[in-house]
This record gives sequence, C-alpha cells and structure tokens, in this order.
Amino acid sequence: MTVFDHIEFDNHEQVVFFRDAQAGLSAIVAIHSTALGPAAGGCRMWPYASTADALTDVLRLSKAMSYKSALAGLPLGGGKAVIIGDPAVDKNERLLHAFGRCVQHLGGRYWTAEDVGTGLSDVHIIGEQCDYVFGTSVSPAPYTAMGVFEGMRAAIAYQLERGNFRGLRVAVQGLGNVGRHLCHLLHDAGAELVVTDINPEAVAYAVEFFGAEVVAPNAIYAQPVDLFAPCALGGILNDATISQLQASIVAGAANNQLGERRHAQALADRGILYAPDYLINAGGMLSASRDILHDEGEAELMRGIRRIYTTALHVFATADESGRTTADVADSLAQAHLAGGRLPEEEMDYSGIAGISAL
Ligand code: NAD
Repeated sequence: MTVFDHIEFDNHEQVVFFRDAQAGLSAIVAIHSTALGPAAGGCRMWPYASTADALTDVLRLSKAMSYKSALAGLPLGGGKAVIIGDPAVDKNERLLHAFGRCVQHLGGRYWTAEDVGTGLSDVHIIGEQCDYVFGTSVSPAPYTAMGVFEGMRAAIAYQLERGNFRGLRVAVQGLGNVGRHLCHLLHDAGAELVVTDINPEAVAYAVEFFGAEVVAPNAIYAQPVDLFAPCALGGILNDATISQLQASIVAGAANNQLGERRHAQALADRGILYAPDYLINAGGMLSASRDILHDEGEAELMRGIRRIYTTALHVFATADESGRTTADVADSLAQAHLAGGRLPEEEMDYSGIAGISAL
C-alpha cells in the first residue's frame, strides 16, 4: 500500500518521513491541512509495532487536529508528528535535537508541541533546534477543562432542558490534569460527582475536595448518572461499554473516545447525546495556540472557549434535524470551514431550544 492509498490519507497535504540514523530517530510528520494557517499539533513518541502503525496513527491524529482547530475558529491547520520508539528507553537529548532539526526543516509549515510520550521539558529541548514549538508557556489542562465544561453546558441545555448543574450527577473517568480541573468546575456548579481513576492519590483528592463518590474503574460506565465524562483513555465508547451507560449525555476530554465510527450511531440509537471530543476539548489548543499567534489575550481566549458552547449547540440541533450523528455533523462542519465556509455565529438564535430559555 502507498501513502496515497492509505485508508486514513484523506488528502493530506504533506507526509514526511525523517530518519537520522546517528541520533536513532525515525519520525513521521503529517500535515493534513494548512488551509486556515500553519499546521499545529503535538509530537507523540510511542513504541509502534511497525512503521505502518505509526503512519496510521499520525494520519488520524493530524486530521483530528485540522478539525479541532477549524471548529475552534483558530487560524491554524492540522498536523502531527510521531517518533517511533519507547520514550522510557529511547528518548534522549540527541534524538530530540534531531527531531527539532526536522521540524525546522519544514520552515514553519508545522509547529510541534507535547503529546503522549513527550513532555514540556522535551519540547524545550526540541525548541533548542527549531523555532516552531508551542504550548510551552502555560499548562493547557485548565483551559481544556473549561472548554469541556462549555460543551457540557450546551449538552444539558439541549438534552435535559437545564440551565445549571445543581443536583445533576456526573461520572468522571480519569482525574488527571483535565479531569481534576473539570471536577472543580462541576463541583462549584453544584453537580454531584462519581469518579474513578487507577491512581489512588487522584481519587483521594476528589474525595477530599469534592466529596466525590468513588467506584472501581470498570464500574464507571454503569453508574446511574446524567452525564458521563471520559477524561482518561481513547476508544472507551465501544460495544462493551455503550450498552452499560445510564447517562443520557457523554461529554469529556479524552481524545478519540469512539472505538469505531459506528459507535456514534450506537450512542444515538440509545438516545444518548454525544458531544464530539475534538469539538469540546479544544480549550487547551486555544490556549497553547497563543504561542504561535501572539495576538491572543486572555479575553480573546475566553471568547474562544465560550464559543465551544455555541458550536456544540449548533451540532446537536443539526444532528437532530438531519437524523445524522453528532460526530458526522461535527466532521461536516469542520470540513466546510476548511473549504471556506463559516462557523456558527455567537449571535445565532437558539430560542427554539427549550433549555436555552432556562439559562
Ligand atoms: P493525564 O494523564 O493527566 O490524566 C489521565 C488520568 O486518567 C490519569 O490520572 C490516569 O491515572 C487516569 N487513568 C488511566 N487509565 C485509567 C482507567 N483505566 N480508568 C480510570 N482512570 C484512568 O491526562 P490529561 O492531560 O488529564 O488528559 C486526559 C485526556 O484528555 C487524554 O485522553 C488526553 O489526550 C485528552 N486531552 C487532554 C488535553 C490537555 O489539555 N491535557 C487536551 C485535549 C485532550
């Protein structure tokens, strides 16, 4: 199979394979689109079983970045990089410098940041050899949580006709950087929390500060709650879990929550409103992008985060009207914006949506 025929290819503008044998670097940079601006997305380091697996991952991730930035209204395109290797064993300064030179070689068409297997300190090392690193000034997690909260607000307005979280029960899977901040926001808004994590310290924090009820990791899906917030792993909405869900809304931070595309329909068939992950977890990207765009102040950032609410409502309503899944509608909206179409305006009239009158 060639790259052009790859099932995830989706008309990527550029896919570059880099090798620096002396530094032990094998990396792929995928640039899905620069239609709206330079491509931006993190660098993942993972011990892929094969080059084919690495290629599949980088193509999928880079397209998702195009869609995320497009729906967030950012003048940025989508790209991603993968380094093939085990970060615990193979990562060192020489390799990261070599990767930095690869990114520099692309002359600003692609900007890199941290991702799974790379951390902030690694990005600083990469930045010693290239000008195109971002997300190095502030932690994106609090902003990601704010955006997810906006997506949740839209979901409860649309699905539950509710203007606030008081008394609503929310199951949060994963109490890491984003999950913990999201719990803060939900707790302050009056929600009752049911949580799980494999890290006992994270769980203890949620009990102490939010009075959260704790359940075992595999028990989180079947909890009698109003919302389920996946904030840990991808692929967790699948044949085994969807049938267990009691929540009528799924809205969380985790990337790639759907096991397969068809699971968006499986959720809809059960009457569960799914807030597409890349639509509502863009807050961190909105924050990190300020390193590239320079001109975005805090007020503009907050405006971008609040826009997630508007866009989510638009996606929910359009899905209902058209009988399509929210995942399909979000994809179409992103594709249309990449092709020059406009995003829903903040001033859109949502008075027909019952929950909005309660806001
Ligand atoms: P994190 O690593 O800080 O937190 C993940 C948490 O999930 C950890 O506390 C971990 O112990 C827990 N976890 C792992 N396996 C689990 C399991 N089986 N059951 C329950 N808990 C489990 O990551 P994060 O930065 O909080 O990101 C969470 C998710 O959101 C990830 O999927 C990430 O890709 C996505 N995301 C994060 C950001 C961001 O700004 N950090 C932005 C967009 C998307």
